[in-house]
Amino acid sequence: MQRFRTALLAVGLLLVTTGLAAGVFVERARQDLDNDLRLNAASRVTAVDDFAERARALTLVASHSAAFTSFYRTGGTREQRIRGEVGDPTLMPSVHTALRDVGLIFRDSLAGAGFIDRSGAENAVVVRGHPVDPKNLAPDRTDAPFFDPAFELPYGAVYQSRPYRSEATDEWVISTATKVDAGPGVSPAVVHFELTVEGVRVAMYSVRPGLRVRVVDLLDGRVIIDSTKPQYADRPLGDPEDYSLRWVQTSKDGELRSEAGFRHDVRLAKTSSGIATSWAVVASVQQPTGPWARPTSIGPMSMVFSGLLLLGLSIVGYARHGRSMHRAARTDYLTGLRNRMAAREIAETHLAKQRELAVIVFDLDRFKHVNDTLGHHAGDILLTVIAQRLTELVRHHDDVVARLGGDEFIVLAHGIHDDESVRVLCERLIRTISDSVTVNGVEVSVGVSIGIARAPKHGTDYGTLLQRADIAMYVAKAGRTGWQTYHEGLAPGDGAELLMDAELRRGIAAGQLEVHFQTSFDIVTGAPTRTEALVRWRHPVRGLLMPGHFIPQAESTGAIELVTRDVLRQALDQVVVWKAGGQHIAVAVNVSAQDVIHPGFGDHVIAALTARGLTGSSLVIELTESVLLTDPDVADAVLRRLGAAGVGIAIDDFGAGYASLLYLRRYPVSMLKLDRSLVQGLSSSATDAALVRWTVEMAHSLGVTCVAEGVENAATFEALADLGCDEAQGFYLQAPGPGPEMVLGAFTRQTVPAGPR
Ligand code: C2E
Ligand code: CA
Ligand code: CA
Repeated sequence: MQRFRTALLAVGLLLVTTGLAAGVFVERARQDLDNDLRLNAASRVTAVDDFAERARALTLVASHSAAFTSFYRTGGTREQRIRGEVGDPTLMPSVHTALRDVGLIFRDSLAGAGFIDRSGAENAVVVRGHPVDPKNLAPDRTDAPFFDPAFELPYGAVYQSRPYRSEATDEWVISTATKVDAGPGVSPAVVHFELTVEGVRVAMYSVRPGLRVRVVDLLDGRVIIDSTKPQYADRPLGDPEDYSLRWVQTSKDGELRSEAGFRHDVRLAKTSSGIATSWAVVASVQQPTGPWARPTSIGPMSMVFSGLLLLGLSIVGYARHGRSMHRAARTDYLTGLRNRMAAREIAETHLAKQRELAVIVFDLDRFKHVNDTLGHHAGDILLTVIAQRLTELVRHHDDVVARLGGDEFIVLAHGIHDDESVRVLCERLIRTISDSVTVNGVEVSVGVSIGIARAPKHGTDYGTLLQRADIAMYVAKAGRTGWQTYHEGLAPGDGAELLMDAELRRGIAAGQLEVHFQTSFDIVTGAPTRTEALVRWRHPVRGLLMPGHFIPQAESTGAIELVTRDVLRQALDQVVVWKAGGQHIAVAVNVSAQDVIHPGFGDHVIAALTARGLTGSSLVIELTESVLLTDPDVADAVLRRLGAAGVGIAIDDFGAGYASLLYLRRYPVSMLKLDRSLVQGLSSSATDAALVRWTVEMAHSLGVTCVAEGVENAATFEALADLGCDEAQGFYLQAPGPGPEMVLGAFTRQTVPAGPR
């Protein structure tokens, strides 16, 4: 599921980024296209404007030709002049030249040019560069489209007509016409030039592939010139059917428009007075179509959307997963209440804000009895029912109820400011919990003992408050008072041992026990012989506790069995680690009377060895003499079983108590550990020295190794050597320390000044 979500996330991200990138790319391409189109449209409309502008300018220049004025200053009739019968013989050729000169510039575009009298009679006409025979000149051109408008304009102005069919060539033309200035008074004539529409088309033709340029007549919205279609003389102008660009009539200059799969740029051709044409030049390119044409097209969009969808799905998945993980980690699986972790978080949040908070802990009296007699399932039902009731009890307040584990609960209550409200709440809790519950048809009821600590009065951190509430609870339990608020005088009181027991059991489960090691060495060779496992308890509030602070209590409550198992486990694990590192050393584990009188103990130890691939020679069991007094028969069986498996048996603290060597005969003992008190007196007390010498000799005669404990200095060490003791252990040789940091090297004997013997 997790992998699936990750894949979803990755694909989603990929789709979104690619989709966006595609969108950007497409948009760029579109902008490029538009820019290109603008440039092209601008240059096309300039070409058209230039074409017309040049035509007008040349028309004006031509009209000033002396030939035209000379024409009227020459005597004779019009006919005589036309035929060259009067005046200068160069007159008519110079008129024709003036008309033809425009053609030099417009080459193929000039259809015809004419010089027409005010009466409408043609005086001279040049068609495609050739003068027309005087016989063929038209007598009346008054209805020519340029005729009247040209006469109406002032001098110097040029009229440009709408397209029409040339009488001379039958081609579609536009004409420019202007009055001839023959001196003061009315003009006697006009000159006009006919430029082919095809010439206009060629002028605005673009070589850019795919670019189509059309001229639209703004008066009727018809396409009159299409760059892609030559304007043949025998065809109607433009396409009489093509009104597809009619929208241009209402367009602005420079407007861009997408229409029917094309992108168009509209340019209005320049107009000035006297121009009958009102044209728009439209440049068009085909727009990319299909799913990738635009950033908003189906292609990029569907990519982005499906990517977002996947992202959304994966995020929802992650959030759900995260929420449910978070919730699961903070929920008690059995009762659905909050668990220990949740309670801690909530309490710490409140405490961080320096709010008042009552920490109320309790466990059920006689719960173990229900479990033992009715079974675990019945116990679970009971816990669930009580949890339900507790939830209802605190519901109306901002209070929180959580299960700490087993039959332990906690209530984090607000608004508990005085002893009276504590009393009220506790009595309600007691009533709620001790109300009987029917489990599997059996009516059961349990009691409860409650301990309370309040912030800030009894502490400001959760650890302290919880511990003090615990102390109060054990006092309540021991005194059978139902509930108890913490106060300074409580800790050493009646509840201390119960408290310690509960804490220790919890602590073991939470991995708070640590094992340190102290090696013993061969006195003669200095070689390490074995290392002793020494337990420490890393208490969350009280810090690192030495065994003297909890082992005696653990022995009296029975928790020692859990301690021994945990130490054995950790010690053997460390042996395995050392072994893997090439160091073979046996470990000595201290066991208590209760361990040894437990019939299953031997099996447990052997199983622990076998599970790690170790033999009995990797382990020594250290027992005090008192152990052997408790239940000699069971102890005998257990020790024989261990001895047979090769596990060493050491008598610890020898010489401190009963000092009976009887045990050395009865049990399969392999080692004696001379008590510290005996060893430390060696160098000062002759009696101790004699006692040690005697013990060593006895032990050796029975084949038992002698180990001296608590060797703190060189003098003691040397004395032990003199007395024939086999091994030594103590701060002088090595202080206890954590296994991973332990150096298992040999002990180097120092040469010391001889001390008092
Ligand atoms: P022990 O079995 O006699 O262990 C030796 C104790 O003497 C250790 O104290 C060790 O730190 C201390 N010691 C070592 N060298 C010297 C020295 O040169 N001078 C002095 N004055 N002391 C030295 P620790 O670790 O505090 O253990 C105290 C006792 O707690 C142990 O006495 C043992 O009886 C008991 N104990 C320790 N670990 C366990 C355990 O895992 N299970 C049980 N049941 N008892 C344990
Ligand atoms: Ca010991
Ligand atoms: Ca000892």
